[in-house]
Amino acid sequence: MHDLKPQDSAALLRDLRAGREIRSVETMIVDCPTTRRHRLSNTEINHQSYVILRVVLADGAVGWGEAATLGGPRWAEESVEAIKANIDAYLAPPLIGRCALDFEANAALTAKAASRNNAARGALEAALFDAAGKSLGLPASLLLGGAVREKIEVLWALASGDADQEIEEAKAKLAAREHRRFKIKLGFHPPAEDMARLTKIVEALPGCEIVCDVNQGWSEATAIRYLPRLAELGIVLIEQPLRPGLTEATARIAARSAIPIMTDEAAFSGPEIVAAATAAAGSVYSLKLVKSGGLLELKRAAGIAQACGMELYGGCLLETGIGAAAHLAVFSTLPRLEWGCEHFGPKILKTDLTNGEILFKDFHIHAPQGPGLGVTIDEEALRAARRKG
Ligand SMILES: [Mg+2]
Repeated sequence: MHDLKPQDSAALLRDLRAGREIRSVETMIVDCPTTRRHRLSNTEINHQSYVILRVVLADGAVGWGEAATLGGPRWAEESVEAIKANIDAYLAPPLIGRCALDFEANAALTAKAASRNNAARGALEAALFDAAGKSLGLPASLLLGGAVREKIEVLWALASGDADQEIEEAKAKLAAREHRRFKIKLGFHPPAEDMARLTKIVEALPGCEIVCDVNQGWSEATAIRYLPRLAELGIVLIEQPLRPGLTEATARIAARSAIPIMTDEAAFSGPEIVAAATAAAGSVYSLKLVKSGGLLELKRAAGIAQACGMELYGGCLLETGIGAAAHLAVFSTLPRLEWGCEHFGPKILKTDLTNGEILFKDFHIHAPQGPGLGVTIDEEALRAARRKG
């Protein structure tokens, strides 16, 4: 096997590709209730809606993918209804009959079939990595360069808006040794009220690292006024304080802030990451599949942000175990991931759609180790969550 002739190698490749053609792509909308309400500056949810994809290869291997949204087309422009329609009509048809292993060529085809539609394209590529990995008996992380870590320190978001409830929730997470770092969502109360809530939480959780996410809810003036208070409270990171597009204003507050600014909604594409970094509007970048539009692009986004000197944070959009596993497949291969990740989505759902392969233990999320994305589907939970009609 060590001295393969070119013709032997070509035969091996032919064998590898045989049976790995994409036979079908099925999409379904699911609505999963959450354990508590989750508030952002511009929306509030008590259930999460996703598009779940089921890809079948010619050899019978099945792959699953997921597109997440947050409260309809608000966090970004895609809704589950639009995602399903665009996958069915535009993204899936050109892939039928193609080899699932041609990841880059398939991604180029879907990018040509629809502009942006990042959540939809990301879900499709996740399902292809899952199907190909399951067919080969290899983890998707190996197909993405190989894992450099099996577990990642994982943060929990506090976002009900009620400080007493949030303190109780955080203490339960600490006691269970699941989370010791927390993200507090700001921007849905007037800032002074948010400061009182935040002060109460910080004082009740000594020794815990706290990140704040404003989800674009502040103006430059509000940020100038309140960032010193956040610094006094020991907040370690502030995420997306202003609207995307306010790059210069964000750079001005970053210049006077003692806390690093994390870029989330302001940068989806590579050029947007470069623009945020070169304007000095953010020194940490939040990685999300729904922003990058695929696992390969997510990995490239990490490289671009890093090349611009930004540190990396693994973000999430409250995915089920399927979407969390897709992120972990990429995150586990990144040489550096300075800020750890979130990916608590499976824990905020009353019922996750996977069979518990993703473990939360000793303040870390453990990447599942099986073939493909490493998770299996709880078919009963999927049937129950599937939207009727
Ligand atoms: Mg965010």
